[in-house]
Amino acid sequence: MSEPIDHVAPFSVADLAELHVDSWTAPFWRATREERLVGCACGRCGTFRMPGPICPVCGSTDVIWRPLSGQGTVFSYTVVRHAVIPQVRGQLPYVIAVIDLAGAPGLRLIANLWNVAVDDLRIGMPVEVHWDHISTDVCIPRFVPLDPEE
Ligand SMILES: [Zn+2]
Repeated sequence: MSEPIDHVAPFSVADLAELHVDSWTAPFWRATREERLVGCACGRCGTFRMPGPICPVCGSTDVIWRPLSGQGTVFSYTVVRHAVIPQVRGQLPYVIAVIDLAGAPGLRLIANLWNVAVDDLRIGMPVEVHWDHISTDVCIPRFVPLDPEE
């Protein structure tokens, strides 16, 4: 017989969202605290890209952070129905989605999708950012379906 999983996970839900920010990702997380979504782009050719030292298109080391609308579409998603750790048991099922960010071609963000029934999930579903302030220092971007009336 195996040990109950409750006895082997010594961290809380807040610990799960602990950020390990470095100099490349700090501008993104600073913006989220002000409820602003920004995307990393090359300062020379303008290509949106992952934060890092060199643009994969032109080789420039220049980086700019561009403001984004906070809207996007669901590129892909998965529905989590099994609690790998007991701290998330009460949140099942939850959705992890890959969001194509509007106005930032090629830039995608992995985030939770909230406020949607699993049966209503669709690839291409329009969504918008929803800010989840989990502490005074950490604000996590989640996404919710975009109201088509707005
Ligand atoms: Zn470039």
